[in-house]
Amino acid sequence: MLSLDEAVQRLLAGAHSHAITERERVSTFDALQRVLAEDVRSGLNVPPEDNSEMDGYALRVADVPAEGTVLRVAQRIPAGQVGQRLEPGTAARIFTGAQIPAGADAVVMQELCEAIAPAREGELGAVRVRTVPTPGLAIRRRGEDVMRDAVVLRAGTRLTPQAMGMAASVGAGELQVWRRPRVALFSTGDELAMPGETLKPGAIYNSNRFTLRGLLQAAGCEAIDLGIVADRLDATREALRRAAAQADLVLTCGGVSVGEEDHLKPALQAEGRLDLWQVAIKPGKPLAFGTVRRAGGGEALYIGLPGNPVSSTVTFLLAVMPVLRVLAGTSQPSVRPVPMSAGFDWPKPVQRREFLRVRIGSDGALELFPNQSSGVLTSMVWADGLVDNPPGHAIRRGDVVPFLPLPLLLQ
Ligand code: AMP
Ligand code: MG
Repeated sequence: MLSLDEAVQRLLAGAHSHAITERERVSTFDALQRVLAEDVRSGLNVPPEDNSEMDGYALRVADVPAEGTVLRVAQRIPAGQVGQRLEPGTAARIFTGAQIPAGADAVVMQELCEAIAPAREGELGAVRVRTVPTPGLAIRRRGEDVMRDAVVLRAGTRLTPQAMGMAASVGAGELQVWRRPRVALFSTGDELAMPGETLKPGAIYNSNRFTLRGLLQAAGCEAIDLGIVADRLDATREALRRAAAQADLVLTCGGVSVGEEDHLKPALQAEGRLDLWQVAIKPGKPLAFGTVRRAGGGEALYIGLPGNPVSSTVTFLLAVMPVLRVLAGTSQPSVRPVPMSAGFDWPKPVQRREFLRVRIGSDGALELFPNQSSGVLTSMVWADGLVDNPPGHAIRRGDVVPFLPLPLLLQ
C-alpha cells in the first residue's frame, strides 16, 4: 500500500507537466474563483488623498486650544467634492469620505460638536467644538490602504470576492487569468439511476455525479459531465476517448477495484496508461492514476476515484484538489490542519490513516459522526471537516487532534 503523501507526490509529478499555459483576459466583474496569471499592481494611492473618517468638522488643531472653542463654518464639503483652502479660525462642515481641505489637520466628529445656527440666510453658521483635537484625528491618510506601485494581488492568487474588490479599488477593470482547468467526469455502474427516474430493483441513485460535479465547480473548474457509463469495456473505452478529447483531466468514480465488473483498468491500458494504487487511507483505498491518449496527439491526465460516496468525496478533497491547484496555476499552499480538542473517544483505530467526519460542537470541541462507514453520505453533510488520524492512533476525549475544515480543503 502507498501512503497518501506518496500518492499525492506522484499525482503532482504528473500534474506539473499538464499545468495550464493559456491565459485569458476577463472582466473583474466575472473573475470570481479565477486564478491570476500576473501580479496586479496599483497605479494610484488608495485613498488617493487624505479624507474624512467621520461626518463632522474639519479644522486646524491650533485653532482649538480649549474645549468649547467656537469657529465660523466657512464651507461645506460632501463626499465627491473638493473644498477650498481652510482659512485660519474657520471650520469646514465635512462628510465621511470627503477630501480634507488644504490647511485642515483634524476632523472632529459631529457627536462632539454643537452646530450654531447662522444669523443670516445663506451663511453656514458656526460650530462649538467640545473637545481638544490632536493632529490627524479622524483623517484617513492618502495611501494608507495601498501605496502607488504596490503589488496588491500576486500571480497565482485565486480571486475571492474581497480580492475582486481590491482589484477594483485600484482601478483594474480587467484581469489576466489562467484558463480554467477542464475536467471531464463520468460515473460507472449499471446500478446507477438518475434522480427523477423510478428505481428498478437493485438500483441506487447516482449521488457521486452530483457531489463530484459540485466539487469541481466549487474548485473553479469547468466540469464537463459525461453522465453514466455502462459496466462494459467498449463503453468505458469510448467514454475515455470522448473525455480526453475535451479535457485536461478525466475523472471517474467507481469501477477501479479489481472485480471482474471493474472495466477501467483494461480500458485505460488500451487507451493510455494506468497505475492502480491501494492508498493507505480510510475512507478511500483504491485510486487509479494515468493518462488517456488524445486522437489528435497529446494526452489528458486520468484519476479514478472509488465508488463509495464518502470515499470518492474524501479522496477528491485529499488527492484531486492538490492536482487541480497545480493545473489551475494557484500558489495556494497545501492545507494545514488546525489543532482542535476532541470531544470523543476513538479507541479502535485501524492500520490506515483515517479521516474522521467531525463537526465543531457548541463547547468548541469536535464531535464525531456515529457512523463512519464509507457509504454513509449523511456523515459528509453533517460534518464541518475531517480529523486526520495517523495509523493505529487511538484518540481520547480531550486530546488535541489535527482538524481539516472542509472549506479549507476546497480552496
Ligand atoms: P465500485 O467502486 O464501482 O465497486 O463501487 C463501490 C460502491 O459505491 C458500490 O456500492 C456502488 O454501488 C457505489 N457507487 C458507485 N458509483 C456510485 C455513484 N456514482 N453514486 C453512488 N454510489 C456509487
Ligand atoms: Mg461499480
